Amino acid sequence: MKVTILGFYGGYPTNGIGTSAYLIESNGFHLLLDVGSNSLLTLEKYVDPIYLDAVLLSHYHHDHIADLGVLQFTRLLKRDSKGNKPHLLPIYCHNEDIVNFNQMSFGNVSQGIAFNEQSELTIGPFKIEHMKTLHPVPCYAFKITEEKSDKIMIFTGDSGYKEDFIVFAKDADLLIADSNFYEGMENHTVHMTAKECGRIANKAKVKKLILTHLPQTGKLDQLVEQAKKEAPSIPIELAQKEMIITI
Ligand SMILES: [Zn+2]
Ligand SMILES: [Zn+2]
Repeated sequence: MKVTILGFYGGYPTNGIGTSAYLIESNGFHLLLDVGSNSLLTLEKYVDPIYLDAVLLSHYHHDHIADLGVLQFTRLLKRDSKGNKPHLLPIYCHNEDIVNFNQMSFGNVSQGIAFNEQSELTIGPFKIEHMKTLHPVPCYAFKITEEKSDKIMIFTGDSGYKEDFIVFAKDADLLIADSNFYEGMENHTVHMTAKECGRIANKAKVKKLILTHLPQTGKLDQLVEQAKKEAPSIPIELAQKEMIITI
């Protein structure tokens, strides 16, 4: 499976780089994980939004859904070269916030599908499992398995540190983890530090750690150093705009 990072800042976009959004591809299937600010413009470089197959959302904070409305409008208004409308877009999301959940369904354009009522679901070539995170609003982490290869990607969503991540991420090929804070902010109830992400990566024995949901301030390389102290043998990198990871 191929993962393209479309945006990685936490909270708000800056310097031409947007917030949480990841394009996940396998066998020509295009899954968009979170739809952060600026994500549609970056997505267009890789796939026309009318050809997206599905969307998966961790939660409804603005930095994860900012471009969702314009994605719906794109698919309402735009046609392919033969004049055909895009298909009804499934948006997999939780329904614990019914006001936001209801906005996911929009005419013949998109339909909200609550994943939290199913223990496991299949989206195209991917098996998806979820785990509730530690965050001020309901939010979910995902274990995304490419069924043909059994390759596993873990996305923590937004979360404070939870011991449960170690089991959830066990032996994953790729861990993309919320590392919004520098060392010293451990045990926060909203986001993790890089050190905590390193701890999960090391204990879960993942093959690669990408630090994401990054802060706009400070020296980001320090996050890598802080994570490496906990996971010296695991490759660790900062998320970069349009970074492509193939696992
Ligand atoms: Zn966020
Ligand atoms: Zn959030």
